[in-house]
Amino acid sequence: MINSIPEEKIRAVIEACSDCDVCRHLMDVDCLFFPQLYRLWDQEQETGEPASSRDLRDLTDRCNFCALCPCPNIRADIIDAKTTVIARDGLGLVSGPLKRWSASVRFAALFRKCSMPCCAIAGPAAV
Ligand code: SF4
Ligand code: SF4
Repeated sequence: MINSIPEEKIRAVIEACSDCDVCRHLMDVDCLFFPQLYRLWDQEQETGEPASSRDLRDLTDRCNFCALCPCPNIRADIIDAKTTVIARDGLGLVSGPLKRWSASVRFAALFRKCSMPCCAIAGPAAV
């Protein structure tokens, strides 16, 4: 069954990537998401306190979907969590980077739907 709560989705990513641990060092420079994921995980192990919902949303916000990390399923889960946060909370509670990401996705969708000849290069045949 698909999990529809974004905090639980990103929690599942934390569990998977902390168990794997490859991206602790592989993605420690080029990504804002994984260093924070491992900070949260290490903090949880030290204190016994789970990351808050706000921490989980902030973590989600750090992924810009650059696709540099190795696992497409993990990226899909992160972007799924992002879109679910926006669908549930709107853009009022989310931070600047997430708003900009959402706006860029909607802007790209406008071009994908446009069938005018001047937009042919970005139209359905080119996607
Ligand atoms: S993204 Fe893939 S390789 Fe990286 S820590 Fe997560 S499961 Fe491991
Ligand atoms: S897709 Fe997201 S998690 Fe993967 S490297 Fe890029 S910013 Fe990091």
